[in-house]
Amino acid sequence: MSDAPTTEPCDGCGDPTTDALARTLRLSVDRANIDTQRLCPDCFADWIRRYQDRMADRDGDGGDSEIIID
Ligand SMILES: [Zn+2]
Repeated sequence: MSDAPTTEPCDGCGDPTTDALARTLRLSVDRANIDTQRLCPDCFADWIRRYQDRMADRDGDGGDSEIIID
């Protein structure tokens, strides 16, 4: 038995990130899952900012997309 926390690298920066801190982010477009990323809090905040910028540019023209965050 191990009491070490589960640690896996962040998909953004590669830093080891424990499950307790990591955010799993699923991007789906038209109900199809197109992207899943496991991110540390820093990369997560970054990603959200970029996503919102991109969505603002498209202004409703990008179909039915949504982010699911676990
Ligand atoms: Zn990261």
